[in-house]
Amino acid sequence: MDKALRSLVRRRAGEVCEYCRLPQEASPFASFHVEHIIARQHGGPTESDNLALACGFCNFHKGPNIASLDPESGHLVPLFHPRRDRWTGHFAWEGTVIVGETATGRATTQLLAMNDWERVEIRENLQTLGEPFAG
Ligand SMILES: [Zn+2]
Repeated sequence: MDKALRSLVRRRAGEVCEYCRLPQEASPFASFHVEHIIARQHGGPTESDNLALACGFCNFHKGPNIASLDPESGHLVPLFHPRRDRWTGHFAWEGTVIVGETATGRATTQLLAMNDWERVEIRENLQTLGEPFAG
């Protein structure tokens, strides 16, 4: 992946994880990952429309997955697709916790462990400091 494409993805995302909305500057990780929404393993191309900015937490949990089970219905559903889906509508905030509002939102929240203790703690610390915990 060339540098220009990488920097386009970062700029487009506004330096915010496109899954859990964690701002890059709030992350303990040095640099967020430019990830394939549809993994290369599934034939996903290295093109702008298939790339998203993801924090280390989301990137690690997502791996090559493109679908998961909705914890409410048990149905297999596609994961949130940052290029095709809008964040609001699939997810909502309840304080510092992300709530999935659709089958895709619930499955993605669970698979990517968006409310694991580390991220909730980061959000709570930022909130205490009066800084935005989500982009
Ligand atoms: Zn994230």
